Amino acid sequence: IFNKDLGQHILKNPLVVNGIVEKANIKATDVVLEVGPGTGNLTVKMIDKAKKLVAIEMDPRMAAELTKRVQGTAEQKKLSIMLGDVIKMDLPYFDVCVSNTPYQISSPLVFKLLCHRPLFKCALLMFQREFALRLVAKPGDPLYCRLSVNCQLLAKVEHVMKVGKNNFRPPPKVESSVIRLEPINPPPPVDFEEWDGMLRICFMRKNKTLAANFKTQSVLDMLERNYKTYCALNDICLMDAFNIKELVQQVLEEAGFAESRAAKMDIHDYMKLLVTFHEKGLHFR
Ligand code: SAM
Repeated sequence: IFNKDLGQHILKNPLVVNGIVEKANIKATDVVLEVGPGTGNLTVKMIDKAKKLVAIEMDPRMAAELTKRVQGTAEQKKLSIMLGDVIKMDLPYFDVCVSNTPYQISSPLVFKLLCHRPLFKCALLMFQREFALRLVAKPGDPLYCRLSVNCQLLAKVEHVMKVGKNNFRPPPKVESSVIRLEPINPPPPVDFEEWDGMLRICFMRKNKTLAANFKTQSVLDMLERNYKTYCALNDICLMDAFNIKELVQQVLEEAGFAESRAAKMDIHDYMKLLVTFHEKGLHFR
């Protein structure tokens, strides 16, 4: 009866359910967005606390199950179900998000939520353990990666609880964790595409120096193309002696990160680096 492709593992342990609901700290004025409600074990615990709950569910059988479960209760009017794939949908307004979805959509879901406007108060998200640990990893942690930096640029991230496989029916193959996201409001004034473009290069080999990563020919070609466009648009004449490799190394030296390694740099380091690139007219898109 459960659809493995849709990651249908139902949360059975009421302690875990209650722990998530408690951490969500739902107020009577809040609109809750629940992604992947399944049979509604979390839904029924949240709906009486909220002003309204919007559930996004891909499986019509699950949606029917959930409808049945609240039918005839006082909460029935507060529930609306949107049928479909959360990644392909326009999200409605919400204050708090709670989600327990298949692990394939973890990364797109995090960034879909963080790009949603207006910003929400917080999100409680169940993820595969390793993915959750990547989200919260700090500089120097073995799991610190581009995902950690991108997520922590836009949100405060906290590991809330470990959830073992046996809390689910049927049990999944992997261990899970719940994390809490709180968007930084207002968001930092960073062009996310530029930011991510730069991070991709820094993290190509996260334990190598930036100077080494930025000597890659395809990287230099890309930066040179973008630089020429930038110069053309801003009426800047290219010097005869122009050398992209030297210019890039000059930026790294000036920012003080030529010998730094991505694995050890924090958000402020990356912000300083991006500003220094921009000051020299170097762009990542
Ligand atoms: N929240 C319930 C619980 O904790 O017991 C069920 C969780 S179950 C792990 C995942 C649910 O997400 C399933 O009901 C599945 O049909 C639904 N789902 C899977 N992919 C989805 C998607 N892309 N968009 C919306 N719902 C999805």
